[in-house]
Amino acid sequence: MSDDEFADVKGSLAGKNGIFAASEGLDALDSVTKKFESHGAGIIYVSQCNYCGAPQETLVEWPELVAIAHKRVIQGWYVDRKNGMFRVNQKCWRCQQVPLPWGETPTGAAKDIRDGIEANPALGAQVQAWSQQLST
Ligand SMILES: [Zn+2]
Repeated sequence: MSDDEFADVKGSLAGKNGIFAASEGLDALDSVTKKFESHGAGIIYVSQCNYCGAPQETLVEWPELVAIAHKRVIQGWYVDRKNGMFRVNQKCWRCQQVPLPWGETPTGAAKDIRDGIEANPALGAQVQAWSQQLST
């Protein structure tokens, strides 16, 4: 993606509405549990489709979480402005009716990253590298 596309997003996110300012309060909207991916690739979000109840497991890799923590919209994600969170651009695998029922906030992603580093200190250096890539 070009810098111009990011500029648009960054401008929106930094807008006066401050959609991420109250991100802590939005956790209630997440009907999701999270677990570490067993090979250290990231976090698996376990949820159920709001429409048909099918179980969903979605792997979100660490670089994606780092991007979210930096309020960057990356491929496969979009900004849900109404709920102030990033959402995966993906529908239920079974009914294809509704998007996955959860999102992630920059605050939530940052916390998951801290937990990930605590569980696996080697992740810290990688996170630093990804963060630097995002800020160039
Ligand atoms: Zn479904």
